[in-house]
Amino acid sequence: MSTRFLTASPAQTQKIGKELAKNILRSKRRRIAAVLGIVGDLGGGKTTFLQGFAKGLGIKQKILSPTFVIMKRFKIKDLGFNNFYHLDCYRIQKPREILDLDFKKIISNPKNIVAVEWADRIRKIMPKGTIWLDFKFVDSKTRKIIIK
Ligand code: ADP
Ligand code: MG
Repeated sequence: MSTRFLTASPAQTQKIGKELAKNILRSKRRRIAAVLGIVGDLGGGKTTFLQGFAKGLGIKQKILSPTFVIMKRFKIKDLGFNNFYHLDCYRIQKPREILDLDFKKIISNPKNIVAVEWADRIRKIMPKGTIWLDFKFVDSKTRKIIIK
């Protein structure tokens, strides 16, 4: 099953991110981290979406495209969750580089929420139960988001 959205502005894309974050915060207890696998076009709105997502988690810092940093951690002030990890695999050559950052440990902690941009590059190490999001560039103002 999948849900599709067509958004007409960055703000609208952020709003969908914010709503997904709130749903995850409300979700029942889990055995491993909540993991988002984010794929799609360059400029498709992946980082924009995560700005809204982080807001929905109550994070005040700005989410940037981690051009030189592969992974950034943010604190979550919530009873159910402690950390939000933002990863961007655009620059990596092989999954080993992500495993070396203790990825297995991060995704096994149910107190973590993990979002991976360009997750198709590390598809084989993404956990079962990953929420997959695909971002498509439609035109200068329009993006299509498919959540699976
Ligand atoms: P990605 O991380 O997928 O490469 P970004 O979120 O960094 O994409 O960039 C998306 C760009 O497209 C931003 O400059 C944003 O302002 C612009 N944009 C225009 N319309 C939209 C929309 N509907 N949703 C998201 N971003 C949009
Ligand atoms: Mg990005």
